[in-house]
Amino acid sequence: DNIRPKIEKHIREVKDFPKKGINFRDIMPLFTNPQLVNELCVVIADHVRHSVGHVDSVAGLEARGFLIGPLVAIQLGVPFVPIRKKGKLPGAVIEASYVKEYGEDIVEVQEGAIKNGEIVFLIDDLLATGGTLRAATDLVVKAGGKVGEAFVIIELAPLNGRAKLTDVKLTTLISYD
Ligand code: IMP
Repeated sequence: DNIRPKIEKHIREVKDFPKKGINFRDIMPLFTNPQLVNELCVVIADHVRHSVGHVDSVAGLEARGFLIGPLVAIQLGVPFVPIRKKGKLPGAVIEASYVKEYGEDIVEVQEGAIKNGEIVFLIDDLLATGGTLRAATDLVVKAGGKVGEAFVIIELAPLNGRAKLTDVKLTTLISYD
C-alpha cells in the first residue's frame, strides 16, 4: 500500500531511549501531519471493512493506542474501548496479566465495555516482545469478546512478538529488522 513510505518518513529513531542500547521508534512526528494521520485512519478502517469484516468496537492500548484508536473507531462508527495499565481505570474492571522477564504486566478494561460475543479490533503503535498485545488479547477474551484482529503500525521483527500471538490475526504496517 502506498501509505507505508509516507508513514515511514514520519517515524523517528531515538537511540538509547528509554535506556542505553534501546532503539526507540517514535511515531509522534506523524502527528505534525494531520492529513497523513487522517489518511492512515481511513486506510486502517478500509482494511478493517475488507479484511476483518464487522467489528463491534476498537480497543486501544495505553498510551499511544489512544492516539490512533479513537480516530479509527470514528471512521468505523463503533465505540472506542480503552485498555489501560493497572489502577488507572475507575470502577469495576477486568484484568489480565502477562509475565515478563522482570515482573508482570497487568492491563485492565472496564466491566461492560466489551459485551459477550463482541468482536474487537485491537490497536497499538508498536509490537516489540508481544507481551502487551498478548495480555490485551487475553483480556478481551476474559471479558467475553473475540479479537477480530490485532493491528500495530510498527513491528520490531527480531523480538518475535508474533510468536506469542499465533492464535490472533495480526497485521503490521511497517516491520523493522
Ligand atoms: P511489548 O509488550 O514488548 O510488545 O511492547 C509493546 C509496548 O511497548 C507497546 O505498547 C509500545 O507502545 C511500547 N514500546 C516498546 N518499544 C517501543 C518503541 O521502540 N517505540 C514505541 N513504543 C514502544
